[in-house]
Amino acid sequence: MIGRDRPPLFGQRALVTGASSGIGAAVAHALAAAGAAVGINHPVPATAAAAEQVAAGIREIGGTAAAFQADVSQEAEVEAMVAAFADRFGRLDILVANAGVQRDAPVERMTLAQWQQVLGVNLTGQFLCARAALRCFERQGVDPDLSRATGKIICMSSVHEVIPWAGHVNYAASKGGVAMLMKSLAQEVASRGIRVNAIAPGAIRTPINRQAWETPEALAALLRLIPYGRIGEAEDIANAAVWLASDDSDYITGTTLFVDGGMTLYPGFEDNG
Ligand code: NAD
Repeated sequence: MIGRDRPPLFGQRALVTGASSGIGAAVAHALAAAGAAVGINHPVPATAAAAEQVAAGIREIGGTAAAFQADVSQEAEVEAMVAAFADRFGRLDILVANAGVQRDAPVERMTLAQWQQVLGVNLTGQFLCARAALRCFERQGVDPDLSRATGKIICMSSVHEVIPWAGHVNYAASKGGVAMLMKSLAQEVASRGIRVNAIAPGAIRTPINRQAWETPEALAALLRLIPYGRIGEAEDIANAAVWLASDDSDYITGTTLFVDGGMTLYPGFEDNG
């Protein structure tokens, strides 16, 4: 039995994709603060310095972290990243498949390249990372000193896995796909002691949606969609990720946790519809 005096992720090893900014960076910090050694994935040489900065911040609080470059939409890069992670840290216990992009356009003007890039990163990327992580979990087996589960996968989805989004059909389709990828994976691997869940953030203040919060007018319009009355912060998502990665949620698999201040509660019906 795991002692309650230890931090909840003590001794575990976690890989977070798209972790050089925004939600991924906050998740990486929170997992490290909860006791995990953390891999900070970033896509290209231009994001290396930001990833190194996240890793340095974790080392400053006494944690263990290293940066790993890989474009999650590229099979060979994902395989090489997970192999390098396992070499460096010895095992993989937690994957947070967080990397995501938006390439917005009205549908008549949306290019095939915009469609394919968003599906490639947001959906195919989650498949490739989850598959590589599952192979690691299978090879390692469970370590009851670390966790009751053989491994944990957290897919970063969005409220747009259920809320249609005009002008963003590629993004909404990718997140709807993530929801069913997550549930089908969870069903397929539950008997092997592997838990797969998703987090669906609402509006979180990060670089991906800067235009939605950077002016007072934009923020006011956004807040009309959020019953709880505030924009989310990356830490709101990070706290949920720590819980979903820990044994405190050990009986939970195949679930999407909405962390959205009520955005999915049909706020238009607040005043009797
Ligand atoms: P962000 O732009 O700060 O983070 C996205 C990260 O993904 C970046 O670090 C980027 O470098 C990385 N990335 C992009 N392409 C990649 C690739 N091919 N390979 C590896 N990494 C790649 O924005 P964020 O808000 O922190 O987004 C993180 C996740 O949260 C995304 O999946 C996004 O869809 C989801 N999300 C965000 C919000 C929000 O309001 N911010 C809401 C719902 C869902």
